[in-house]
Amino acid sequence: MLTVHAYGATSVAEPLVPMTIERREVGPRDVLIEIAYCGICHSDIHFARGEFGDIPTPLVPGHEIVGTVTQTGSQVTQHAVGDRVGVGCMADSCRECANCLKGEEQYCLKGHTLVFGGVGRDGQLTQGGFSTHVVVTEDFVLRIPDGLPLDTAAPLLCAGITTYSPLRHWGAGPGKKVAVVGLGGLGHLAVKLAKAMGAEVTVLSQSLKKMDDGLRLGADHYYATGDPATFENLAGSFDIILNTISARIDVDAYLSLLALDGALVSLGAPGEPLPVDVPSLFANRRSYAGSLFGGIRETQEMLDFCAEHKIGADIEVVPADRINEAFDRVLASDVRYRFVVDTSTLA
Ligand code: ZN
Ligand code: ZN
Repeated sequence: MLTVHAYGATSVAEPLVPMTIERREVGPRDVLIEIAYCGICHSDIHFARGEFGDIPTPLVPGHEIVGTVTQTGSQVTQHAVGDRVGVGCMADSCRECANCLKGEEQYCLKGHTLVFGGVGRDGQLTQGGFSTHVVVTEDFVLRIPDGLPLDTAAPLLCAGITTYSPLRHWGAGPGKKVAVVGLGGLGHLAVKLAKAMGAEVTVLSQSLKKMDDGLRLGADHYYATGDPATFENLAGSFDIILNTISARIDVDAYLSLLALDGALVSLGAPGEPLPVDVPSLFANRRSYAGSLFGGIRETQEMLDFCAEHKIGADIEVVPADRINEAFDRVLASDVRYRFVVDTSTLA
């Protein structure tokens, strides 16, 4: 075993604290990654605070991991020592079910292995990226293209692929109108990605407070959902609406904004069932859908796309001992637009 420094939860009620954890020995198909940065995602906070259910402790969150390969197993062919690499939400999957065979490992029928809080093939609890090193099977390690700085690339591993995948699936591109609900960690990347794909992009935000940012990030239009006129004026407008917020929404009001064959895609969980008036789906043959992050092949495609279009997250880098403060600021929407932990401060 390898003993490494980390920052994690000892209970759901306590702030995260410095700790050491054990990583498995590097197996024949494993790579050892020295982590440089790890983004902070909303779901890290939900997990660490027990809001997704009981957690095994100690638990080290973090699933937007980037760093450098420092050791490879004897049978590794895809990565070499010195390569810049990333790991996202999942560290493994069954690799043999119908969905895995389609390259949609995030929908593994036997359940993918979460990068933290899951159980790896070695039977050990997986621990995430708020740590100095991680050992991951090479098939679930992504290449970070040369053109992408590591720090701004980190959030692409969750926020990036979580928005890229539905944009691709529902056909964002030239001639398509995409609305992004909420301009936060996911939303700001959704705007950049949809714009780079060639779509006409609209931000729908509670107020016009972040309008300058939204337009700078590439949005063509920006409207306040707090203004009822927005829903009247934009009725039947959009081919794709990506809902990046977890708060309760009036689903029917958003469905009314969809054009023919349009889809409202939810990426955040509101934590309670939301009512849908089914006839509001009939008009314009509308869909109400959800989407997880993406598979490994698509995540690599997203990273290559971001390098080509010079897309990274807008970030604020923090040392590890400010993770708890960053958690509170994420919950208060007080970050533009993603915190990234400099994990070298753990060493
Ligand atoms: Zn995430
Ligand atoms: Zn599977």
